[in-house]
Amino acid sequence: MAQVQLDHVSMKYTGPDASVQPALHDVQLTLEDGETIAIVGPSGCGKSTLLKLIAGLETPTSGRVLYNGHDVTGTEPQQRGVGMVFQDYALYPTMKGKGNLSYFFEVHQRTEAEMEQHVREVSELMGVGFDVLLGQMPTTLSGGEKQRVAIARCIVRRPPVFLMDEPICNLDAKLRERTRIEMRRMLQKYRVTTVYVTHDQQEAIFMGDRIAVMRGGVLEQVGTFDELYFTPANRFVAEFIGTPPMVFLAVHKSSASLNLNGVGGWTLPADLAAQLPDGALLLGMRAESWAIGQGLAAHVSSIERIPTQQAAFVSGSLGAHRVHVLVPLDTPHTAQIQVMPQWDKAYFFEPTGERVLLTPAIPDLF
Ligand code: ADP
Ligand code: MG
Repeated sequence: MAQVQLDHVSMKYTGPDASVQPALHDVQLTLEDGETIAIVGPSGCGKSTLLKLIAGLETPTSGRVLYNGHDVTGTEPQQRGVGMVFQDYALYPTMKGKGNLSYFFEVHQRTEAEMEQHVREVSELMGVGFDVLLGQMPTTLSGGEKQRVAIARCIVRRPPVFLMDEPICNLDAKLRERTRIEMRRMLQKYRVTTVYVTHDQQEAIFMGDRIAVMRGGVLEQVGTFDELYFTPANRFVAEFIGTPPMVFLAVHKSSASLNLNGVGGWTLPADLAAQLPDGALLLGMRAESWAIGQGLAAHVSSIERIPTQQAAFVSGSLGAHRVHVLVPLDTPHTAQIQVMPQWDKAYFFEPTGERVLLTPAIPDLF
């Protein structure tokens, strides 16, 4: 088991024309022993590069990688002993599923009994039907089945660090759902320190004890889902976490009046007005943060009912801005809906969105 630290790690690739491509900028991250961190961010933001640096497949341009406090920056992947699963499953083609799982024990001359026990344990954890895969050759397995065997093969060795790079993104939706439940179950049982890369927000929330949001080689924020949801550092994080995403309205504040271009204005409560600078601001609103029946008129374009929540999502527009408003299920359907922020749930950002200026008090959830 291991704690892993990235200490001011930067990575620059040299392109074919000798141009320098920055892929990671000054990343600071500590993975606690046994935790799973899900790394999420758009394509090209440096997720795979981060994994390769932890594995030892790449060496950072600057900064250090530490395992349990020891500097491993210059050491080979074999010495680090990490387990890796990538998108393209590479099973040993000449061995059945079981051979793939037990190969490690043969190479390392472990006892038959130890091997059998580990394989049985992992197979049980992998769930219904997995033992059937153990008796099959890789060529007879579907893509999803191969990937399940590849994941089991990796975990059966109990690596100190487990790295997964979008391991299930090639599977269909149903199989993805099932496989992520299996993976989560295994990670919780074995408490292997894990970095799980995905571009899917829902997968990150499900898999990660904490979530790290990346953009353009920069680690924007690391935290639990609740921390990212309720206290996002900037617009990018606020927009990335949560469905439907937070909506951003360009507003102009002048003492207690907050004006939305071309639509009209709301009056701020005095204490809130005092905390915010006058001038251009970005108002961040989540669907559940609106008060209805007062304020400005939004034009309704669609309504999605969610009976299990006794609620409905109203999508509409406030001038040029699209908004999503969560309303009680029995709200009458009308072409317009009056909306006003619940001021104790509104976020304010710098006009660029780069920094949050005012975060509402966090609800007492637990
Ligand atoms: P992600 O996994 O988030 O999609 P990557 O880590 O693969 O992103 O890539 C980050 C950036 O580094 C991208 O701009 C990519 O083009 C660049 N990059 C990745 N690997 C190399 C490489 N071997 N040589 C040059 N540039 C690379
Ligand atoms: Mg990648």
